[in-house]
Amino acid sequence: MHAGHTEAALPSSPSLLDCVIIGAGAAGLTAAVYLARFRRCIAVIDGNASRLLAIPASHNYPGFADGIHGEELLSRLRRHAAHYGVRSTPGTVETLERLDDGSFIARCGKQQWHARTVILATGVTDVEPDFPDVKRAVAEGFVRYCPVCDGFEAISKKVAVIGHGKGGLAEALFVRHFADAVSLLTLDDPFDLDEKEQLRLGQAQVQAVHVPVARLAFDNAGVMQVNLDDGRRLSFDVVYVALGTLVNSGLAQVLGAQCTARGELVVDAHQESSMPGLYAAGDLVKGLNQITVAMGHAAIAATAIHNRLGRE
Ligand SMILES: Cc1cc2nc3c(=O)[nH]c(=O)nc-3n(C[C@H](O)[C@H](O)[C@H](O)COP(=O)(O)OP(=O)(O)OC[C@H]3O[C@@H](n4cnc5c(N)ncnc54)[C@H](O)[C@@H]3O)c2cc1C
Repeated sequence: MHAGHTEAALPSSPSLLDCVIIGAGAAGLTAAVYLARFRRCIAVIDGNASRLLAIPASHNYPGFADGIHGEELLSRLRRHAAHYGVRSTPGTVETLERLDDGSFIARCGKQQWHARTVILATGVTDVEPDFPDVKRAVAEGFVRYCPVCDGFEAISKKVAVIGHGKGGLAEALFVRHFADAVSLLTLDDPFDLDEKEQLRLGQAQVQAVHVPVARLAFDNAGVMQVNLDDGRRLSFDVVYVALGTLVNSGLAQVLGAQCTARGELVVDAHQESSMPGLYAAGDLVKGLNQITVAMGHAAIAATAIHNRLGRE
């Protein structure tokens, strides 16, 4: 879907909403279902860039042993929210303001929403290598971003990890648990590993390729090739990209909510940030980036908000 028009769930929406949900991926849509079923007045605004859209098939989302395409899961979540009258408004929230009475105003272009609470569910953005074929390679499951999600599907395969420093090392060692052969590749930065870390690579039989990758490209037969700067061409069954993520927490940071050095939201046991009334759910929260975790955060945040509003 391109989310049609929003508006709130039951009952009809007043000018002061109970909650505005920013972002409608796994976390935002789960929160929308919960809050709608709690009969709360909500609005959902979404930039339509959920990471779910990049998942060719998820095999670790419980209940779908044969796997589920990320886009299919997103459509199901949207339909579930729509069943209770919630449709997200397309757009990117540009500013979030907290008023003296503790309520919030979210603005997107000429539109604005005034709400007693906010759930920020804006996720993260994967840092992609800058090669033209990358989107196709992700869609075909050749390039992957998340070995926690699909390391199992790399069992006995020949795998490369593109990364640098400790992040690349950790991912290569993680993947080695599944794959028969793992090579650690770099885009341009030197690996920057100390002696102990190099020893760990050696012990795990991970091969570090120091010549940078020039490009990833499909050959005429549709097979993905890794071309190195020295002209060598390597082929792998799977390439994991471990270049990190950008956390979409700018709206919270402007308000002064506590974040980690990487920009992840720090929350309490109810998913509330250090800014009262501002809750966060999903990948932008410090912790494991998984669909089930995002949904769990959302369930906790929505229930905490419902209970809080009942007390006010
Ligand atoms: C290739 C790939 C494969 C994956 N495979 C799996 C898997 O098999 N199993 C698994 O558990 N996880 C998997 N993941 C991770 C999973 O997709 C995420 O954990 C999950 O989507 C997080 O949900 P979220 O709601 O936090 O963020 P998202 O689903 O990414 O949604 C965030 C939404 O917020 C919107 N947004 C951002 N900023 C704004 C703004 N200012 N205003 C309005 N909207 C905004 C975005 O447009 C987006 O729609 C995979 C990820 C990738 C990239």
